[in-house]
Amino acid sequence: MRAPFERIETKEGLAYYQATAFTQTGLVRHAFSTRLGGASQGGQLNLGRNTPDDQAQVLENYRRFCHATGLCSHRMVLSQQVHGDHIAAVGEADAGRGLYAPGLSGVDGLMTDVPGLALATFYADCTPLLLLDPVRRVVASVHSGWRGTVQRIGAKAVAAMQAQYGCDPADILVAIGPAIGPCHFEVDADVRDLFVATFGDACLSHIVTKGAKFYIDTHAINVTELCRAGIDRAHISISGLCTVCHVEEFFSYRAEGAKAGRLCAAIALQ
Ligand SMILES: [Zn+2]
Repeated sequence: MRAPFERIETKEGLAYYQATAFTQTGLVRHAFSTRLGGASQGGQLNLGRNTPDDQAQVLENYRRFCHATGLCSHRMVLSQQVHGDHIAAVGEADAGRGLYAPGLSGVDGLMTDVPGLALATFYADCTPLLLLDPVRRVVASVHSGWRGTVQRIGAKAVAAMQAQYGCDPADILVAIGPAIGPCHFEVDADVRDLFVATFGDACLSHIVTKGAKFYIDTHAINVTELCRAGIDRAHISISGLCTVCHVEEFFSYRAEGAKAGRLCAAIALQ
């Protein structure tokens, strides 16, 4: 059996990850970026448009990322995320927004049925979700930080794909990319209480208590929520890579603070 995620590195040293189940459909180009192989300070692949790095270098990073992954930068659509739960349906008129035209603000998830449009969301520890309905040929890219997770943004993306495109959740594949893991997602009682208030006592099996601190497995909670929304567990691929444990490969807000660059999760129908 092939591993659920594959690491790809170009001869120029740019590395990214792909979900094997997505690649096997032959229907999409997609990637979860790393920090390796870029033009920003010290060779970083920062894809954050709203970070302090030189934006000419960030645009060069987009050029390199797109060249390596086969995505088209001129047909990318970038989210301007607010840790909310709004999912926007985008079309041809949105191509280039966020890179060459004003971005889509107040949006934490993007979806489309238009081939070639590359939907991009951004991360430094938060959880990236890519969704693909290979039957209706619809894709989505969703930013599920802990705030998005307690707003059930993954399940809302599934519902939005149903409402907008007539998708059947039973057909949808999901890839959960590199994100802060339960080993490092330490929170205080206030955040833990929000999770319990939202998901009930059932989520306690995904929370470890150490003194006054709590460690939450948001990957597992996302899986549970997606299955409740009708996704087949066998259709969910999890990278399981923790961005803090592997800060040499990923940007991490926890590990690096405000200077952290941004990772990107992007997907386009072929
Ligand atoms: Zn970790």
